[in-house]
Amino acid sequence: MSCTCKHTPHLQQSVRRPSSSLPNDHVTKYHARTFGLPRRICLPPPIATISRIEKFSSAHRLHSPHLTDEENAQIFGKCNHVNFHGHNYTLQVDVRGPIDPRTGMVVNITDLKKCIQDSVMSLVDHRNLDLDVPYFAQGIPSTTENLAVFVYRTLAKHYRNTLVPLAMD
Ligand SMILES: [Zn+2]
Repeated sequence: MSCTCKHTPHLQQSVRRPSSSLPNDHVTKYHARTFGLPRRICLPPPIATISRIEKFSSAHRLHSPHLTDEENAQIFGKCNHVNFHGHNYTLQVDVRGPIDPRTGMVVNITDLKKCIQDSVMSLVDHRNLDLDVPYFAQGIPSTTENLAVFVYRTLAKHYRNTLVPLAMD
């Protein structure tokens, strides 16, 4: 499902169907309570995954002090440019868990969006990762892999039980 919000045309959100499709004649406690249906079998509430995709642009330089200048240039290529260079990143954040029968949601997508914006996007978008982000400024190489680790650790503080390992391009 694409977001139709005109204020954030670059964002997408999607809701996948619950992974466990139930036979039609099975009604969970969740369905019974939510929709007033007779309960014939007691199963856990359905699980769903909420996804948000964010795009951002950042500059960085990859240069290992454990390698020679020639080795750095050979291994990291354009990412070893002495004056930094930029990438466009796509970040997908998946939150997975049971649907709360009181709200019909796994998490509040508005809260998730604000958390991503405040905790991640404001730090990395149009920034120099190696100079502006304390996590990388201490010497951790700003590879895509480590960027995913940074984002995951940051968001896991807020969505400890539901955050799915990240996908990033
Ligand atoms: Zn690069």
